[in-house]
Amino acid sequence: MATKRDFYEVLGVPRNASEDEIKKAYRKLAMKYHPDRNPGDKTAEEKFKEVKESYEILSDPQKRAAYDQHGHAGVDPNMRGGFGPGAEGFGGFAEAFGDIFGDLFGGGARAGGGGRQRYRGADLSYAMEITLEEAANGKDAQIRIPGWEDCGTCHGSGAKPGTQATTCPACHGAGVVQMSQGFFRVQQTCPHCRGAGKIIPEPCPACRGVGKIKIQKDLEIKVPAGIDQGMRIRSTGNGEPGTNGGPPGDLYIEIRVKKHAIFERDGDDLHCVAPISFARAALGGQIEVPTLGGKATIEIPEGTQAGKQFRLRGKGIKGVRSSYPGDLYCHIAIETPVKLTEHQKKLLKEFDLSIQNGGGKHSPDTESWTDKLKNFFGMDG
Ligand SMILES: [Zn+2]
Ligand SMILES: [Zn+2]
Repeated sequence: MATKRDFYEVLGVPRNASEDEIKKAYRKLAMKYHPDRNPGDKTAEEKFKEVKESYEILSDPQKRAAYDQHGHAGVDPNMRGGFGPGAEGFGGFAEAFGDIFGDLFGGGARAGGGGRQRYRGADLSYAMEITLEEAANGKDAQIRIPGWEDCGTCHGSGAKPGTQATTCPACHGAGVVQMSQGFFRVQQTCPHCRGAGKIIPEPCPACRGVGKIKIQKDLEIKVPAGIDQGMRIRSTGNGEPGTNGGPPGDLYIEIRVKKHAIFERDGDDLHCVAPISFARAALGGQIEVPTLGGKATIEIPEGTQAGKQFRLRGKGIKGVRSSYPGDLYCHIAIETPVKLTEHQKKLLKEFDLSIQNGGGKHSPDTESWTDKLKNFFGMDG
């Protein structure tokens, strides 16, 4: 092929042409050189290809910018469909017209480059419930999902045994039909066979003509350590099968983490509440707290207040993308004793009296609170 002409020159538009000007120029030239108007004319065919290629680049803002900057080298020739090497016949024309004339013809003109229409299968999703420990450590899970296999009765053909699928008379097996719109041809998925290219006069009774039957299949899923609520694992190709040889969809496994009896997770950190007695809080001492992997000891200082939190470094969870684990925060709750005996009540009253006699020394918060209240009511009254 000779050296490529400048795309702007091909369309006869200035380099600063608007999208509209480019579209108009393309439409005019496409009509002029369209093969239907120039049957057997090789020069017109070449021109048409050139015009189409230029339009493909210049109508795409990204490709146009790349072309403006780097010329022909800036636009990857492999990105183009339709007229590349090995393109079949005029399959690409419909594509070209789908792009620009789709709106004129009411859409529906999105056809591929000849041959049957292949559709990717739908994605499937699956909810997997795991424990917090499993989320932290990861696990190999077995799940059972719906799958499809070739029907044993018809061996995948969809036709009743002893009969055969026949070529679709409407599209002659191509899966697409040409619709005439004035002097244009537009390719559409064959409505008679829905793009399959064949029809089954007597469907297989086992699979109702689908050629595949639904089965249950077991799948090994690797749940990575550190995974969190709401994250998804993709299992490629385990969605629904494609149509007419199209690729299957994917399976997404969505993780749900069961509520834990002790821990609450926040990112890579864990939180727990440790209730201690009022006496322990006042006197201090060691308490044992659980961690995900075992237990740990916390030294409670004398006079610990409710709500105080202790951090256990590295006792959280190592997230999927984290390089080190988070921390465990232990929140201290002080439990007020309940169902006291008369004797205990008496002791407590005596104790309280001795505290009160000590004044603000033993209860600094209470004293400052009392002062605040005095000021507050004093100002109001
Ligand atoms: Zn069958
Ligand atoms: Zn058909």
